[in-house]
Amino acid sequence: MAKMKALVCRECGKEYPTKAIHVCDMCFGPLEVKYNYEEIKKTISRRKIEDGPLSMWRYIDLLPVEGAATVGPHAGFTPMVRARNLAAYLGLDELYLKNDTVNHPTLSFKDRVVAVALTRARELGFETVACASTGNLANSVAAHAAAAGMQCYVFIPGDLEAAKVLGNLIYRPTVVEVEGNYDDVNRLCSEIAAEHHWAFVNINIRPYYAEGSKTLAYETVEQLGWRAPDQVVVPMASGSLLTKIWKGLNELRALGLVSEVRTRINGAQAEGCSPIAAAYMEGRDFFRPVKPKTIAKSLAIGNPADGYYALKATAESRGAMDMVSDDEVVEGIKLLAQTEGIFAETAGGVTIGVLRKLVKQGIIKKSDVTVAYITGNGLKTQEAVIDAVGRPVRIQPSLVSFERTFKMGTTGGGIT
Ligand SMILES: *Cc1c(COP(=O)(O)O)cnc(C)c1O
Repeated sequence: MAKMKALVCRECGKEYPTKAIHVCDMCFGPLEVKYNYEEIKKTISRRKIEDGPLSMWRYIDLLPVEGAATVGPHAGFTPMVRARNLAAYLGLDELYLKNDTVNHPTLSFKDRVVAVALTRARELGFETVACASTGNLANSVAAHAAAAGMQCYVFIPGDLEAAKVLGNLIYRPTVVEVEGNYDDVNRLCSEIAAEHHWAFVNINIRPYYAEGSKTLAYETVEQLGWRAPDQVVVPMASGSLLTKIWKGLNELRALGLVSEVRTRINGAQAEGCSPIAAAYMEGRDFFRPVKPKTIAKSLAIGNPADGYYALKATAESRGAMDMVSDDEVVEGIKLLAQTEGIFAETAGGVTIGVLRKLVKQGIIKKSDVTVAYITGNGLKTQEAVIDAVGRPVRIQPSLVSFERTFKMGTTGGGIT
């Protein structure tokens, strides 16, 4: 029997075939993949996973594809870094960073979801792929489509960082820059998706796409020696990643691959776009859409598709949410770089900033085994930190100049 049973409406439970559909035609609820866990349980084991490929596809038994990974075979299985310096700075005993800044091939966590989405899109017979993106998704869809020989359209907001725009153009997809923010892009793409027979990875393929995020939970547990952490801190844009980390942990427990999950799922946003975190902090179980204004552009979704479910996952796990200012984002990026040697993008600054706040507030305790998800690479968002890192010390190419600069009491720059 196949591991995928159906697509099922998250609201009313109506079931659909596993095709390129994403909303329930009865109640307009979002669809998600339903698995044959009884079948999966018979074959999956820690041993089988450990003997699998050194990529997220070692968890293929829990991913929504029928055959092998035809697109994105190297995504995932990124380092789990024991962050001793940052832990000491924050006053934590055991802190880890899940480092998706080095994900393959486009340096963000989006390579996971795109590998699943395009593999599934191919199985469903699509030749053209597309996405509505805050930046990283477009980069990943464009790169994977190039390698897979698929036609590609990416839609991005008009104010993206230079490296994220270039990181599309280089693969030669059709790059459509929409004069508006992500929410405008997304609305437009929903209309286009209804007209054209394309695989929009985060629209009609979204039920499959979103499942790719579960691999961050699986890797976390395996890399901690088959333990679930006490606390995780997750950056939120649509909120999908956060909900899937919760789902992934619960699947591992249900399958007996981890004995206990007491993990608290904490969500992080930037103040300038914090509809989900604001709802949590004000005790609401619904969010109010906002107009984004933050340097954390990869998280700038004002009307988050999974906001409601993210609030639910955080509540179920007894986690928390918080937000940080743009200045705190920059501080977070610098702190991470200077303690652990990891250069994260703005989303990483959001995660570190919120981690810091939650520790300060006593929500994350010293003895809690904590994992922070670092989801994107700092070389893609240089604009955010360029004015906050100083300049190199400039000298003439002579020993005299060097000695004069460093021994004559001149205070150098280069350190801020
Ligand atoms: C897309 C993205 C996220 C989170 O996205 P969700 O829509 O909440 O799943 C986090 N970090 C980075 C760098 C991203 O690009």
